[in-house]
Amino acid sequence: MQTHEITRRFTEHFVNAGHTRVPSASLILDDPNLLFVNAGMVQFKPYFLGQVPPPYPRATSIQKCVRTGDIDEVGKTTRHNTFFQMAGNFSFGDYFKEGAIEHAWNLVTGSQDTGGYGFDPDRIWVTVYQDDDEAIALWRRIAGLPEERIQRRGGDDNYWDMGVPGPGGPCSEIYFDRGPEHGREGGPVADEDRYLEIWNLVFMQDERGELSPKKGHPPIGSLPKKNIDTGMGIERVAYLLQGVDNVYETDLVRPVIARAEEFSGRRYGANHDDDVRFRVIADHARSGVMIIGDGVTPSNEGRGYVLRRLLRRIVRSARLLGVHEPVLGSFAEVVRDAMAPSYPELVTDFERISAVVRAEEEAFLATLTAGSRIFDTAVAATKQAGGSRLAGDKAFQLHDTYGFPIDLTLEMASEAGLTVDEQGFRSLMEEQRARAKADAAKHKVGHGDASVYRAVLDTAGGSEFLGYTDLAAEAR
Ligand code: ATP
Ligand code: MG
Ligand code: MG
Ligand code: MG
Repeated sequence: MQTHEITRRFTEHFVNAGHTRVPSASLILDDPNLLFVNAGMVQFKPYFLGQVPPPYPRATSIQKCVRTGDIDEVGKTTRHNTFFQMAGNFSFGDYFKEGAIEHAWNLVTGSQDTGGYGFDPDRIWVTVYQDDDEAIALWRRIAGLPEERIQRRGGDDNYWDMGVPGPGGPCSEIYFDRGPEHGREGGPVADEDRYLEIWNLVFMQDERGELSPKKGHPPIGSLPKKNIDTGMGIERVAYLLQGVDNVYETDLVRPVIARAEEFSGRRYGANHDDDVRFRVIADHARSGVMIIGDGVTPSNEGRGYVLRRLLRRIVRSARLLGVHEPVLGSFAEVVRDAMAPSYPELVTDFERISAVVRAEEEAFLATLTAGSRIFDTAVAATKQAGGSRLAGDKAFQLHDTYGFPIDLTLEMASEAGLTVDEQGFRSLMEEQRARAKADAAKHKVGHGDASVYRAVLDTAGGSEFLGYTDLAAEAR
């Protein structure tokens, strides 16, 4: 089943069940805690928080999401994209646990002939929050799931809140067993690769205080109006229904791998390290284009820095595949063609998008050549001195003078068999930031928010918080 059909069926199912169809919000929302929208619920936050009365009792959306916190997983697990689409259904004080479970079950296991996804019910497992007996009873009754395929989990995995006093509640996640050739028995608590999480249901029922129920503290009350917030990963459902091995081989992502094969003359599937590079390229090309589509340009701060990091990692990965010519413009075209049916603005804005990626690549290729020389010399000197760790000031110089993101230096160092004095690098970064801040204050051109983002990026390397995970979980 093609991705387009998967999203269509999701929307159709929930519109038929009285949900208002709401378009995806931009990846960029005005929220100081969030670099990029990372879950379907983000645009509905004011309704969940009771700040604005919801204009409808039920809604459904296919939300563009970026999770740069997952960047290190990309290409290595089967299931993590930096850009993905989260399909969701939302109830604002309307139906609750029973309705949410019923809808999810019917759509996931409903026959493909009648609008469902047709997953084999015998291969579905679910998790629930440790003391959510109500959810267990509903899964038994509605889905007929045997007790051993319902697993209890603690707050870190199966309790959701926003990290501050306000709404919270237990979650229930739906998993598909990919089979014994993909890992250990024992359900999702034993192996999240074999058992693939496809859908998360959040039952917003509690009022949490200063202390989070995530950490075992009881909630301080229950919400007067209970809400439902769910998120189903379109790419994950797509990879299962398309019979491919991972989210990078689905109909909307794989075409970039094919283009990278043409450029490199290497074949996807022939070598593990190369395969990871192919997948990184395909994933990042898509997130790069989608992020630029929503108005971000590469820079050294905040969102622009994330974008720069993604684009430069593509170029770097292509070089490791033996490609030295410019690739970004061509990859962007492939992404546009794959994504345009759902995001027609990619076609109308393509000239702008293409200009941005081409300029960034040109700049990077120039510095890469110069920086690689410095890097090689530093590696040779370190090894000659019997060291195994690249000095922090070298990493800083590469960053500061040659625009090497730290992750690039880390990656190259690790390929050369060295570690990097990251702490030394970070304290030099910190000093530089303090200098810049003092300078900005002097000239009254301070830019508070961006430096906050930058600090977050440098420590956590990702976009933060919200959605279903708190800062700690995202940063992991
Ligand atoms: P995982 O445990 O696999 O990292 P998650 O629990 O962090 O996933 P949620 O925050 O519950 O994910 O998001 C809801 C749904 O969005 C998930 O059930 C999954 O289908 C999808 N999803 C989450 N992160 C990604 C990602 N990086 N790439 C693709 N799909 C994702
Ligand atoms: Mg999970
Ligand atoms: Mg989850
Ligand atoms: Mg996750």
